[in-house]
Amino acid sequence: MKETMHSKILPVVGSGYNMPAYEEAYNNFSWEDVEKQFTWYETGKVNMAHEAIDRHIGTLRENKVALYYSDATRDEKYTFAELKTLSDKFGNVLRKLGVRKGERVFIFMPRTPELYVSVLGTIKVGAIVGPLFEAFMEGAVRDRLEDSEAVAIVTTPALLPRVPVKELPALKHVILVGAEGELEEGQVSYEKEMEQASEDFQIEWVDREDGLILHYTSGSTGKPKGVLHVHNAMIQHYQTAKWVLDLKDDDIYWCTADPGWVTGTSYGIFGPWLNGATNVIRGGRFSPHDWYSTIEKYKVTVWYSAPTAFRMLMGAGDEVVKQYNLSSLRHILSVGEPLNPEVVYWGTRVFNKRIHDTWWMTETGAQLICNYPSMPIKPGSMGKPFPGIVAAIVDDEGNELPPNRMGNLAIKVGWPSMMRKIWNNPAKYEEYFRLKGWYVSGDSAYMDEDGYFWFQGRVDDVIMTAGERVGPFEVESKLVEHPAVAEAGVIGKPDPVRGEIIKAFISLRDGYEATDELLEEIRQFVKVGLAAHAAPREIEVKDKLPKTRSGKIMRRVLKAWELGLPTGDLSTMED
Ligand code: ATP
Ligand code: MG
Repeated sequence: MKETMHSKILPVVGSGYNMPAYEEAYNNFSWEDVEKQFTWYETGKVNMAHEAIDRHIGTLRENKVALYYSDATRDEKYTFAELKTLSDKFGNVLRKLGVRKGERVFIFMPRTPELYVSVLGTIKVGAIVGPLFEAFMEGAVRDRLEDSEAVAIVTTPALLPRVPVKELPALKHVILVGAEGELEEGQVSYEKEMEQASEDFQIEWVDREDGLILHYTSGSTGKPKGVLHVHNAMIQHYQTAKWVLDLKDDDIYWCTADPGWVTGTSYGIFGPWLNGATNVIRGGRFSPHDWYSTIEKYKVTVWYSAPTAFRMLMGAGDEVVKQYNLSSLRHILSVGEPLNPEVVYWGTRVFNKRIHDTWWMTETGAQLICNYPSMPIKPGSMGKPFPGIVAAIVDDEGNELPPNRMGNLAIKVGWPSMMRKIWNNPAKYEEYFRLKGWYVSGDSAYMDEDGYFWFQGRVDDVIMTAGERVGPFEVESKLVEHPAVAEAGVIGKPDPVRGEIIKAFISLRDGYEATDELLEEIRQFVKVGLAAHAAPREIEVKDKLPKTRSGKIMRRVLKAWELGLPTGDLSTMED
């Protein structure tokens, strides 16, 4: 089975990347060298917002555009100097309300410049920021604010009905963006407060180990966990954005992720601004035309997105790509789910660029295993460990397994951006470190003889069928290679004879109909292309697969549907 995934290698294209050749970079690396890049290495005074924004003031970057923002009604840009002033003012707004270091301030609003100003201002007063997807319903908002005892929330009048203020005793302040008319007690207007706020501001210097951001995980496998990251994470945000995203001073960078998801903060806020890059933020909903025109309009050079989006763009057809001038694109990356080889081949065809897969988790805070611009790519592989990171495949006792054996993907404990706690759940936190010296990811993978890692699925999703271990990802990737299949989610279904059988849920591309012949053809396609035992015994067609807000297929929901069991926490599911 593995041979099919190993077959092609995409060589390095071009030169001049920030990162040296992989082995050289890996062997000569030290995190301490990275620390020397920061102001605090000299001053001892730390604050993420200082390093990301304020530090650029007084340099050539001061009047450079830090943020391009557009949606259906707005089209704006902000320099680093402007973002500094605005976030200083918002810091004063929070101080006036009495928000103090270490308290939690949530941001629950659509992607707009005000969201970014609020995040930065919150960090500047030393408070912990909690970003939420604007699409969350009341239950999801309540759970997170309650769990973290948030003292303030920045939101909009349209979203306010989903904030159950009266049920949240700790929540003292509601800051409303775009409010008109009378406000109730406990509410203030963002605009009015900002207008009155002084530009004179003293940033709160914190300890490297002080709380920065509280991210609830995507909820793919169950109830989301509150993952706390600290200011120290900037070391890794900075270096990975430099080497993996390959950000340079003249780059126009677009991360399509919402800040409600860790990718939208680590690489939508911190990584790019620590490197002084220009960030593009596009508000509103996904559409292929809108996305391609965003790249064209801003001449985006570096683009970080997710497999679900790439699959949707692929599904929209090559003709759409040709209507836009995308020649500015220099570097493309993906995260969040396994990147199917078929998508990588599509990328090389339509963009004439390799798509670089990157693997990490909310808990890891930053990228850990990646494909680098300076390294050959094996499509279907998530790449190799970032310098300074030791990754391995271990068995359930923590013993390292030899190459090509499927097991637990684990990381040697101790990298700068590692989570520092799971909020209110120390037992859950300890579970990640149950194998001495290792952080256990919960993902199943193997490493090949060249040191490339291959994702197989979540440990709980690995299918045992007639004595064979099958990772759902390989089957899904084969399925989406078929021209009729837009997306696929594969689960193990209990079976008295085989232990489990493979069941595939698929959605079809436009123009295809779910006939018995087509489904049999798809089955044969997997059987011939992958392996007989990996061919799904059952295929069910759905209009849409259940997905998280961050775009991940929720296999646990497919499984619950199949078995008629309760679906569990659905707070993060897309409508
Ligand atoms: P929850 O932990 O709440 O169940 P989640 O694991 O989906 O949700 P995230 O932290 O957003 O929450 O996602 C991390 C997971 O996403 C990884 O453990 C992995 O399963 C998957 N993932 C991320 N990037 C990749 C990638 N490049 N290839 C394969 N899988 C990936
Ligand atoms: Mg997870």
